[in-house]
Amino acid sequence: MNPELINISYIVASVLFIFGIKMLGKAETARKGNLISSLGMLIAVVVTLFDRQILDSKDVASWYVLGICLVLGSLIGAVMAKRVKMTSMPEMVALFNGFGGLASLLVGWEDFYYNGFVKGVEISEFTKIATIAAIIIGGITFTGSLYAWGKLSGKLSGRAQVFSGQKLVNGIIAFALLAAGIAFSIIGDVQTAYWFLIGAVVVSLILGFAAVMPIGGGDMPVVISLLNSLSGLAACAAGFVIMNNVLVVAGCLVGASGVILTVIMCKAMNRTLHNVLFSGFGAKKQKAGGQASGEMKAISTDDAYYALEAAQNVMIIPGYGMAVAQAQHAVKELGELLENNGATVNYAIHPVAGRMPGHMNVLLAEADVPYEQLREMDDVNPMMDSVDVAIVIGANDVVNPAAAQDEGSPIYGMPIIEAYKAKSVFCLKRGKGTGFSGLENALFYQPNTRMIYGDAKATITDLVSKFKE
Ligand code: NDP
Repeated sequence: MNPELINISYIVASVLFIFGIKMLGKAETARKGNLISSLGMLIAVVVTLFDRQILDSKDVASWYVLGICLVLGSLIGAVMAKRVKMTSMPEMVALFNGFGGLASLLVGWEDFYYNGFVKGVEISEFTKIATIAAIIIGGITFTGSLYAWGKLSGKLSGRAQVFSGQKLVNGIIAFALLAAGIAFSIIGDVQTAYWFLIGAVVVSLILGFAAVMPIGGGDMPVVISLLNSLSGLAACAAGFVIMNNVLVVAGCLVGASGVILTVIMCKAMNRTLHNVLFSGFGAKKQKAGGQASGEMKAISTDDAYYALEAAQNVMIIPGYGMAVAQAQHAVKELGELLENNGATVNYAIHPVAGRMPGHMNVLLAEADVPYEQLREMDDVNPMMDSVDVAIVIGANDVVNPAAAQDEGSPIYGMPIIEAYKAKSVFCLKRGKGTGFSGLENALFYQPNTRMIYGDAKATITDLVSKFKE
């Protein structure tokens, strides 16, 4: 295939990736964005088959391997995508990142093993640095993502696993990895360098586990977006190893977007990345916040119905519990009934409500809640005093007034949805359990707050049936 045509096709694929990612930023265009990016990937794969003369290969065995891998990979991907529940999306992304990292590690290892170790070809300094970067970043991403997947899927304890001297141990592992990487890069003898490379593979796999261990399950979405970014950087390094431009571009795009998302999430929690990675947040139960005292007053759905029927302005504030209960369709129905009853209904979306970025937007979009009704935190807070009833559905930390009022609280400074300013607040949850931070919530004890205990879906469905009666 003509080299110019190959380069043009790679540029087209890269442009499609960029447009695809841009379109993923809005719910209405996200589906199309996904398709456009996939088309870019298809072009990149097909062109690479020509570019590397894989299609001209006389080796029939490699054709079988390629074909089998393609069919198997597509089947596994299609079945997983079809079966995955919305609440399990972060786990699925963790697996994608992990295998992306593993693929980059294998590309780096294979290139050096085959060309350097077996054929004895002299490998340039630059390629060696790119190789070790693909291996180190890929290895950490692989095992780190597997651990994150285990925590999110409940197969491993979601609690941060900490022990004394952990930071020192992790520091020693990281130092050993760096030393193996430097030795590999500067040692001229290919045979000796290869064994340092194998050492780096093993230690990077250990570091991935060790680094994710002290991070609590609730912080996994941040870790996953960071690992996502690392998987991009590993792919970019692998692109330099095999001198494939489109892999470099795609890797950079993933790397950069992952970093941006990580920063956005840390800001929304008012925490630094250092705090998320190294503080062991969620390792033990926190003490009750100083301002959370008094009595939680419960009401029945009958009483809640009368209050809602009279309300002119209702704010629905969803959180992780709505995702657990899968209550989004019932919530949408309640919203419509309230509107038909003459009320103005809005949905207040906190950027880190739930357990993955955009969790609430995705669930409510799935239930066809009109996009204009989904309001950002900064839009809704100024109008909160005029809200007649704020319905907090399985949200806890993101509405905890301690974040605004209690300087001693570990979540002090985290931007919250100021539900406590509404005229009345209904909090829907199953019991007296705390949120992800493990903190008591002063909102539940306010004089204008009423608790409606039970599974959120059951409670909302009950309210819906009362409106329909
Ligand atoms: P929280 O985890 O703080 O609270 C969830 C609440 O839902 C709990 O109080 C629980 O109470 C209730 N709940 C659980 N299941 C049900 C159910 N079936 N029906 C009704 N209620 C239920 O959730 P938030 O969304 O308020 O906060 C998210 C937290 O996660 C924040 O602290 C945020 O910083 C953190 N986080 C979010 C990230 C993201 O990307 N989205 C990233 C990292 C961290 P009960 O057990 O009593 O029912």
